[in-house]
Amino acid sequence: MIPGPIEFEPKVLQALGSPTDSHVSTDFIETFGNSLELMRKVWKSPTGQPFIMAGSGTLAMDMAVVNLIEPNDNVLVISTGYFGERYADICKRYNANVTILTTEVGDTIPLNDIEKELSTKDYKLLTITHVDTSTAVLVHPEPIAKLAKKYDTLCVLDGVCSVAGEEIKQDEWGIDVVFTTSQKAIGVPPGLALLMVSEKAMVVFKNRKTPVSNYYADFTNWLPIMKAYENRSPSYFGTPPVNLISALEISLLHITSEGIENRFLRHKKIATAFREAILALGMKLLPIHKNYSANTLTAVYYPENIDGGKFLKHVADNNIILAGGLLPSHKTQYFRVGHMGSVNNNDILATIGAIESSLTSCNYPFNIGVGVKKALYILNN
Ligand code: PMP
Repeated sequence: MIPGPIEFEPKVLQALGSPTDSHVSTDFIETFGNSLELMRKVWKSPTGQPFIMAGSGTLAMDMAVVNLIEPNDNVLVISTGYFGERYADICKRYNANVTILTTEVGDTIPLNDIEKELSTKDYKLLTITHVDTSTAVLVHPEPIAKLAKKYDTLCVLDGVCSVAGEEIKQDEWGIDVVFTTSQKAIGVPPGLALLMVSEKAMVVFKNRKTPVSNYYADFTNWLPIMKAYENRSPSYFGTPPVNLISALEISLLHITSEGIENRFLRHKKIATAFREAILALGMKLLPIHKNYSANTLTAVYYPENIDGGKFLKHVADNNIILAGGLLPSHKTQYFRVGHMGSVNNNDILATIGAIESSLTSCNYPFNIGVGVKKALYILNN
């Protein structure tokens, strides 16, 4: 129950163990082309340009900005945790002038503050972390994308911990780049960076005056490849991860057959049940507002006087693996629970049960069963 890599569907894993086709075989060309088309459905971006790349989420972060910014461009990073900080570092590496808006841990940045900053100078691009996996804070991207449009600023959404788990309507909301990686709610083992780029952003890319300062990540190299696969013709720039892409097609088919709306609702219900169970147990969440709490993972403070290491070990003794804290300033004060992808009611009930058992072993005073009861009530209504 960590926030990625998650548990994967058996048929997705089977694809990884199948014989590896040639990357220019008819079957694989169909798989790649179909995966690109399915991405548009999951991202809700009929007009977007998808990219399927070998790499982790950090490559997707890199690729989204290195193709769109040029030296001395102004970039606004809206940070709600560790991955916002990383985004600022990446943009600085490409010689952008970076302004980072931050706030108290667990909070979001008021729209007014974002607008105030956008009005101070000509921002080429802004970045949002949809769900910062270090804090479990959910940012609502739509109003920020509207502001970006008003100030003619490109809007990039780090959807690593959200795509296929939190609601996203890329085209309708006017977001220029939405990216993720395979090991999260998309449900494929680690190794793929997946991006969807708007028509407007592709024009900005085509009109750039300086070369992209990263060879591997340059759209120039990969755009013809994506277009070729989508047109069902062979092409080569770098060898694609054949088995991972076969697994991706299976997972995207699974996601679209569940129905993306049903999937969001399932995530929301399970997340609500889990959060309410945690609160019923008397524990505190990192996100300050319920409205800004992620549906893909939850971050919980350890109760006072409870040793985090011992708590997690007792949970693990009950066969549930949770993640520790990630935000450097609060690392030892909280733990994280992933509930995305193929997670079901039984998984979350078993997790709450294991947490209750661990709390008992740690001599935490509470009425055993209150968390499970609360969750059952929510899951059954
Ligand atoms: N952004 C967010 C929000 C993430 O959660 C992560 C990884 N947990 C990344 C970016 C980086 O992804 P990766 O570890 O696959 O490089």
